[in-house]
Amino acid sequence: MIRDALDRPLRNLRLSVTDRCNLRCQYCMPEEEYVWLPREDMLSFEEMAHLVDIFADLGVDKVRLTGGEPLLRRDLDRLVRLLSGNPRIRDLAMTTNGVLLGEHADALRAAGLHRVTVSLDTLREERFKVLTRRDTHARVLEGIEAVGRGWPGLKLDTVVMRGVNDDELADLIEYAGRVGAEVRFIEYMDVGGATHWTMERVVPRSEMLARLTERYGPIVPIVEESSAPADRFRLPDGRVFGIISSTTEPFCKACDRSRLTADGLWYLCLYAARGVDLRRALRAGGSRDELLELIRSTWQGRRDRGAEERLALPERRPLVQIGELKRDPHLEMHTRGG
Ligand code: SAM
Repeated sequence: MIRDALDRPLRNLRLSVTDRCNLRCQYCMPEEEYVWLPREDMLSFEEMAHLVDIFADLGVDKVRLTGGEPLLRRDLDRLVRLLSGNPRIRDLAMTTNGVLLGEHADALRAAGLHRVTVSLDTLREERFKVLTRRDTHARVLEGIEAVGRGWPGLKLDTVVMRGVNDDELADLIEYAGRVGAEVRFIEYMDVGGATHWTMERVVPRSEMLARLTERYGPIVPIVEESSAPADRFRLPDGRVFGIISSTTEPFCKACDRSRLTADGLWYLCLYAARGVDLRRALRAGGSRDELLELIRSTWQGRRDRGAEERLALPERRPLVQIGELKRDPHLEMHTRGG
C-alpha cells in the first residue's frame, strides 16, 4: 500500500463510467444542456479494468461505479463482471439515481456487484419533479424496492437543502427502515456544478442532529475505525443513519479516495482544478510498469485538502462559475463522479 504526502493510503477509487445523466438535479446539473465528453475519449471496459488492476497493485481494494448516471452506460454488467473477477477488489459498489435500477438490478447482482447506494432526496413526487426536472420518482422507488428485497448493504443518499427537503429527515429514516436500507444525509456541497449553492442553503450536521434528537430522543454516535465519509449514529430504537458533513466538518485527514473520469482523467480531490491524464498514458502505449509508476509518484506527492481549504475561506461562494464549467466540463461533479 502506498501513502501520500500526508500519510493517507490509496484505497478507494470512484470510477465514473459516463458523464451523461437522465436527471437534472438543481444542485448538480441545473442546466438542461451540457458539453459532453467526446465518445472516442471514453475508456472501454477493458481499459477501465486494466487501470483498476494497476490501482489494485498499489492498494486500492474498494471501487465505486458512479457518473453521471452509471446505468446509462450500456452493458454495465459486463464491466461489473470484469471487476468482480478481480480478487483484490473486496468491495465493489455503485451509486445510482435509481431510475433504471429496477430493470438492471438482477443482472448487476448476478455479475457480482456487492452493494448499491441510491440517491434519493425526497419521498414526495411533486418535489422530485421540481428538484430533478424529470417525472421518474415512481421508477426510483421501484428500483429501491427491487434492491431492498434480499440485497444487503443498500444505502440511500440524501442531499439536504434548507427550504427544499430539510423537513423530510425523519420521513426518510422511516422509509429507509421499511425498505431495508440505511440513509445518509449529505450536507449540500459547493462543488463544480452546484452553481446555485449558498451557505444559507446548507443544513449543518449539528442542526440535523438537533432536529432528529428532538423527534427521536438521544442519539448516540457510533465509534468505528473507518475512512468512510459518513459518520454513523444510532437512534434510541436501534436504527442507524449516517451524516456526510463535507461542508461544515470535512474529513480530508482520512481521505483515501480518488476519482477516475469516464475519459481517464484521474482526480485526487473532488475540489482539484486538474487531473492526471491516464488515458493518454494508456493509449500512447504506456506499459503496466510505466502507468504504475505514474500513479504511484502522483499519489505520493498528494497534499490535497480541498474541503478543509474551502472551509477556511472567509466567504464562500460556488466553486466554479457556469462559463468556466462550459469551457472545462471536467470541473463538473457529474463528470468527476460524485
Ligand atoms: N447519478 C448517480 C446518482 O445520482 O447517485 C451518481 C452520480 S451523482 C453526481 C453522485 C452523488 O453526488 C449523488 O448522491 C448526488 O446527490 C451527489 N451530489 C451531487 N451534487 C452534490 C452537491 N452539490 N452536494 C452534495 N452532494 C452532491
